[in-house]
Amino acid sequence: MVTVSTAPPTVLAASDCKGSTLASSFKHGKYSGIGSYPLQSFDLSRKSKYGRPKMELTLTQPDDWHLHLRDGDLLQAVAPHSAKLFGRAIVMPNLKPPITTTAAALAYQKSILKALPADSNFTPLMTLYLTDKTSPNEIKLARKSGVVFAVKLYPAGATTNSQDGVTDLFGKCLTVLEAMVEENMPLLIVMEHITTMDAVRFVESGKEGFLAATVTPQHLILNRNALFQGGMQPHNYCLPWKQKIFLGTDSSPHERRRKECPRGCAGIYSAPVALSLYAKVFEEAGALDKLEAFTSFNGPDFYGLPRNTEKIKMTKNPWAVPSYFSFNFGDIVPMFAGETLQWQPCFS
Ligand SMILES: [Zn+2]
Repeated sequence: MVTVSTAPPTVLAASDCKGSTLASSFKHGKYSGIGSYPLQSFDLSRKSKYGRPKMELTLTQPDDWHLHLRDGDLLQAVAPHSAKLFGRAIVMPNLKPPITTTAAALAYQKSILKALPADSNFTPLMTLYLTDKTSPNEIKLARKSGVVFAVKLYPAGATTNSQDGVTDLFGKCLTVLEAMVEENMPLLIVMEHITTMDAVRFVESGKEGFLAATVTPQHLILNRNALFQGGMQPHNYCLPWKQKIFLGTDSSPHERRRKECPRGCAGIYSAPVALSLYAKVFEEAGALDKLEAFTSFNGPDFYGLPRNTEKIKMTKNPWAVPSYFSFNFGDIVPMFAGETLQWQPCFS
């Protein structure tokens, strides 16, 4: 998938967006709530109940540069989870029907804001779904809106709801790209949820400030071997802490009944556990001091946005991931359902 953005920066993001299947268990009870988070300071003065110092991590509030919030009941259910942990998120436009116009993006933004808790400062960065029929005028409207942040290019048929995607970028969308140039929108390329060292090398070889990539927690945790093929050693893997690589959960919630069927939907609901999982991977690599750049600095720096000023805290305090989140329309099963994670966001 490629993203062409329209707000101050313009983004072209490449992605496969295939998703994976979530192994889930439903043994335990309902979601009990996640706490809040933190950065590179380790406060050893706090004692755990066993009398040992409790590790604490304070981070500048992270952003999620690749998020699926869905719509309707699902949106109402999952938006508060992301809003609790992240300051901003690039919201993917592949709804049914996809968000192809600025008017639709504005309406979607309104729905998202309505789904947030009253005290939330979460900012959804809206995107348009590029099609063969997108007009140059739509780009101008998007730019003028001040709300639409990017235009996502889904190659037709490549991923969920991509049947309306682009069949020939330069053949069908050249006037749109030209409109972006006219609107003074820089063309950036973001490779979405990269999984291989080839992708890392490609990103590294790109011109500074124009090419970057997101990495999901599931690709770091579940496909670690694939990430380090080609000579990278596990203790030495540097994928997530390159300056051009930043956090993008690709969190993709589905209602449980739609996943547990013969043609179950792809997609992992990772938003509630993403920060805990990133912290786990960075800690295992002895690189917790690099975590904040990945979660909170590299993304806004690349997109030319200010870094967040809020802080969040995480403590090393084992917590059980809920087996599912229960809503009146059904259940949503998170990644690592029913398992224990070490790093817990702390919310006051
Ligand atoms: Zn995605």
